[in-house]
Amino acid sequence: MSNATQLLHSIPVDPLTGAISVPIYQTSTFVQEAPGVNKGYDYARSNNPTRGTLESIVAQLEKGNHASAFSSGLAAIDAVLKLLKTGDEIVAVDDIYGGAFRLFTQVYEKFGIKITYVDTTDIANVFNAITTNTKLIWLETPTNPTLKISDIEAIAKIAKASNCLLCVDSTFASPALQQPLTLGADIVVHSATKYLGGHSDLIAGIVITKEAALGEKIKFLQNACGAILSPFDSWLLIRGIETLHLRVKQHCINAQAVAEWLSAHPLVDKIFYPGLPSHYNHAIAKKQAKGFGGIVSFTLKEDTDAAGIAFVTSTKYFLLAESLGGIKSLISHSANMTHKSIPADIRRANGVSDSLIRLSVGLEEVEDLIADLKQAFEKIATKLQLNILQSA
Ligand SMILES: *Cc1c(COP(=O)(O)O)cnc(C)c1O
Repeated sequence: MSNATQLLHSIPVDPLTGAISVPIYQTSTFVQEAPGVNKGYDYARSNNPTRGTLESIVAQLEKGNHASAFSSGLAAIDAVLKLLKTGDEIVAVDDIYGGAFRLFTQVYEKFGIKITYVDTTDIANVFNAITTNTKLIWLETPTNPTLKISDIEAIAKIAKASNCLLCVDSTFASPALQQPLTLGADIVVHSATKYLGGHSDLIAGIVITKEAALGEKIKFLQNACGAILSPFDSWLLIRGIETLHLRVKQHCINAQAVAEWLSAHPLVDKIFYPGLPSHYNHAIAKKQAKGFGGIVSFTLKEDTDAAGIAFVTSTKYFLLAESLGGIKSLISHSANMTHKSIPADIRRANGVSDSLIRLSVGLEEVEDLIADLKQAFEKIATKLQLNILQSA
């Protein structure tokens, strides 16, 4: 059975009424026959049937056994960090999501957890950073916004040999393209706000594990700390996931066409898309994923803040906004948006130069998207020429 068929038929028909859409159990509590005698539910923070259905759908999608849904991607990441204790260490990808970096350094370092950041695209760096206190390896692959790819299978072997857990933030790939648990990872997290939801209409996160005991620990933390996903958002997320495979397939087709068109443009300097053979991690991307995703980043020959801003304010269909993975195309200027809090020299050293523009390529007709980019280049060319004339 193909993954799409399996997904659609893992969404149960309601046994009570035959409803084909998963019912929203908008309730806080469940009436009991006698103390402790119930129908499997007692209080909706601990368990809710709508959320439970979502969790089992996503567990199957990731080829895991356990999933827990949270009120945001960061709440999901936070639950994984709470598996650790004071004195433990994490080896993390250097090109990490800004919100995860903030959580690690401003919240968890305070509790005595040490984090070492390395370029995980070279597995030797991971190996060398591990100490006897390392309990968790934190990968994000592909990364934001330069789409670096790390070898999950090779790093999973290092994790096993070093007796630590491997967690992969697989948000940029989605389970339609990459299933880290099948490559040896212990934990997968998603910001379901992005491709899983797919419609830019909710904030959600999810943690998936292979081992039941680890899944139980996350479930315990979900109930103990309380950052659960609501019944309505669980339903909305199921609704989004129903078209995951279809959407992601088209995101990949559109992004590949946009990346190829951009790479031939005279005003473009660097282009970052794992589906281009010129991308530094193309080979590993091809090996471990079914497709290259919907995110394309590029820099301008005129590598300045002003040129980046001029470009992102010149598009019509690419809407200027943070976030990614929705059906409508989005554009952002990393230096002034997602990476604004990172010191400029560190940001540049990570490949995020001043003009870097990130596209979340949506599901519009790709000809319209390319025409939109074309007119934006024409606009900035005029504008930049004007600047040159003025300064002469
Ligand atoms: C957006 C994002 C997050 C955070 O998720 P929220 O749902 O915004 O809390 C974590 N990791 C990655 C890679 C993301 O893109």
